[in-house]
Amino acid sequence: MDIEVYKFGGSSIQSADRVKKVAEIVKGIESRNTVLIVSAMGKTTNLLEEVVNAHFDQPGRVQAALERVIDYHLRIVEELLPGDDQVIGRLNDLFVELEWGLDDQRPEQYDYVYDQVVAMGELISSTIVTAFLKAQGVPLIWLDARDLIHTDRNFRNARIDWEKTGESISRLVTPELERQNLVLTQGFIGSTPDNENTTLGREGSDFSAAIFAYCLKVQKVTVWKDVPGVMTADPSRFEAVQKLDVLSFREAIEMTYYGAKVLHPKTIKPLQNRQIPLIVRSFLEPEAPGTSIEDQVDVVYPPIIIVEEDQLLIQLSTPDYAFMEAQHLVDAFNIVAKHGFKMNVIRNTAITLTLVTQDRPRHLPGLLEELEKHYTVRITKDVLLITIRHTHSATEDQLIQGKLILLEERFGNTVQFVTQSLPDYALR
Ligand code: ASP
Ligand code: MG
Repeated sequence: MDIEVYKFGGSSIQSADRVKKVAEIVKGIESRNTVLIVSAMGKTTNLLEEVVNAHFDQPGRVQAALERVIDYHLRIVEELLPGDDQVIGRLNDLFVELEWGLDDQRPEQYDYVYDQVVAMGELISSTIVTAFLKAQGVPLIWLDARDLIHTDRNFRNARIDWEKTGESISRLVTPELERQNLVLTQGFIGSTPDNENTTLGREGSDFSAAIFAYCLKVQKVTVWKDVPGVMTADPSRFEAVQKLDVLSFREAIEMTYYGAKVLHPKTIKPLQNRQIPLIVRSFLEPEAPGTSIEDQVDVVYPPIIIVEEDQLLIQLSTPDYAFMEAQHLVDAFNIVAKHGFKMNVIRNTAITLTLVTQDRPRHLPGLLEELEKHYTVRITKDVLLITIRHTHSATEDQLIQGKLILLEERFGNTVQFVTQSLPDYALR
């Protein structure tokens, strides 16, 4: 069976018109052996994060935040499926489940509650898209990804139990594909052995697509986005960006590691391991070829720019002027890892270790408290990390001219700058 995976991101289904476009793409699928993965609609995940934040910080605002989520979806349903009481009934059940997520408190608190609530975005979107596709005559089975993707209890960044996941996917997905049904399920979400919702990290639907691809040994994965393919920089920030026609798995994994938002960083490994090509295409131009990510490619890459915001520069010094030795580094890394911070740049000198990490405001006080027991700690918030792959001096000059550079790292053809000022978004 030649199976394919199609993944539709949030912006591809952000409005009734967009869902109609997706339906056209789905109707054009020639092979019935296709698994469709959908994200939450538009910015729903952000709206649900606001619900969770209100629950912890300003309970008086929860209701209004919930209503925004509910109204947004009901408006789309009204346009797509007017008078369809069945879909409204199913959505109402999901809205109730969403509110339960807030009642159900456990010691893990924030991250746990986050996943119970935020996972509902994908369940809601997939319910609407399924109902619309079925109304258009597409033979389709909706499956709950929580029955397929099994994870540990590392809420908000759950790790996959590959064996159990592979077993469930073969048991529940394969027979449907053999019966010539398309299968539609949710990206981003999974469940623990105790049936608690988990999520795989923001933008995790790409990773879900790769998990299904790996387990089903598919021919290819297509990710549908609102950009023509993988670009040399974020087109919403920079002018004169180019689309890359082909990209190696190697380059893609490096780009995502450095923070390129085009794909979730965990997406590439499962695909590379099974040599499954990944195509990034635009749902706005479904005929255009997009970017093909595969194993062996023969290209000379232009400079590729990646900007990560909300970074934190942490400087740790030994209080007694002792050298920063291996054991100090191990201890510091252990503390940072324990609090769930990802290290984006690491540099050490005689008595100082400098780290650049993504800020996690809710987890920062705990991290600092523990670090301060061992080190003198200095932090600089709101710094930017700019990475240039395949760097070129002209590109560097344009990007960093006149900016205060707090840290510079160079390795091979990759350079990273840590700076406090915003980059000039138009780079010509
Ligand atoms: N809806 C989730 C997010 O916005 C997952 C995804 O879109 O891939 O992060
Ligand atoms: Mg998304």
